[in-house]
Amino acid sequence: MFKKVDHIAIAVRNLDEALQLYNKLFGARPSKIETIPQQGVKAALLPMGQGSEIELLEPIDPQSGVAKFIESRGEGIHHICLEVGDVDRELTTLAAKGVQLIDKQGRPGLAGKVGFLHPKSTKGVLIELAQKL
Ligand code: ZN
Repeated sequence: MFKKVDHIAIAVRNLDEALQLYNKLFGARPSKIETIPQQGVKAALLPMGQGSEIELLEPIDPQSGVAKFIESRGEGIHHICLEVGDVDRELTTLAAKGVQLIDKQGRPGLAGKVGFLHPKSTKGVLIELAQKL
């Protein structure tokens, strides 16, 4: 079951600089800053009111998906995250509907247990599903 749009993620070249900008513009302060080596990123979550967040992603590995994204498209919206009750169940249901998955099963992520759908199946937008833990 889908609950809400949890966060919108933005790929940035420099996380510290982006955090300063979002603080200056919106008064936003990160609730979490973490390095996620498996995804090759340093990430920060900025609460934006009413349970919505902006996630800023800086690549720390030139081979990471986020690094390649910035290389080809520049900084910008990287993915949209939808909160779900059960990430594994949603991935199974979506796979049965023919959706191409990046993750067949949920795995640990900044927003909880997460799984990604391939943008080829979702009109060019990378979609993350997240189950709060
Ligand atoms: Zn995310």
